[in-house]
Amino acid sequence: MIKLEKPATPQILIDKSADWTSTLLALVQQYSEYSKIPTTVKETVLKNYRHVQIKEALYPSSNKKCAFCESFPEDSGNIEVEHFHPKSLYPSEAFDWNNFLPCCRKCNSAKSDHDTKTSPIINPYIDDPENHLDVETICLKPKDQLGQNTIDVCQLKGTRLYRPFSDLLVNFKQFEDDLKDALDELAEKNTPIKKRNHLIKIREAIDRLENLMKPQSQYSFFCKKTITSSNVYQRAKILLEKEDAKAS
Ligand SMILES: [Zn+2]
Repeated sequence: MIKLEKPATPQILIDKSADWTSTLLALVQQYSEYSKIPTTVKETVLKNYRHVQIKEALYPSSNKKCAFCESFPEDSGNIEVEHFHPKSLYPSEAFDWNNFLPCCRKCNSAKSDHDTKTSPIINPYIDDPENHLDVETICLKPKDQLGQNTIDVCQLKGTRLYRPFSDLLVNFKQFEDDLKDALDELAEKNTPIKKRNHLIKIREAIDRLENLMKPQSQYSFFCKKTITSSNVYQRAKILLEKEDAKAS
């Protein structure tokens, strides 16, 4: 889970949000409560929040990943438009742009109609998840109650995340071993050309690793936390910074 920036409100919502909201609120009044509105009746207005213009404006803001678990749709089911504050409890926010986030089916069904106002969780468009979450081996670890609530409510635990995290961890460990060998071998490079070529290899290896930490990569929060905590990675970064300083 990483910090996201909400794009500008799409035109369709500027034009229609108020109408759609009043239609839904009229139905709530007519049937006395939200849960009593027949599904087919409700759907005539609710289908609007899944409008293609809304999806096209929203999904790039999370690099087409789930805003909670950072999975790609092929791993966790389609990305859907999710209401941060559930529409069943807060129908007046059913067409509020600030209440939307892209969410995978697994997180969406875990979160369900959890009341995010009485028991808040991280909203990545408002809160920086780094302030509330950390990583420990193959698990997300809460830093505070907001982090704990988010893990519990969205079920950011269990096999669906432990498995990809452990695959990444195995790859990182192998990579770390190779990087350590490359750093140790640098001292043996006894000509400037050999040394320079060896440094290029180390730099390319670091670049490949850092690509996994970029927002467009799957599980980038886990990758960033795991990689930046590696002593070998830190050693390589310091070495490259020194070389850059020498060259400039
Ligand atoms: Zn998810």
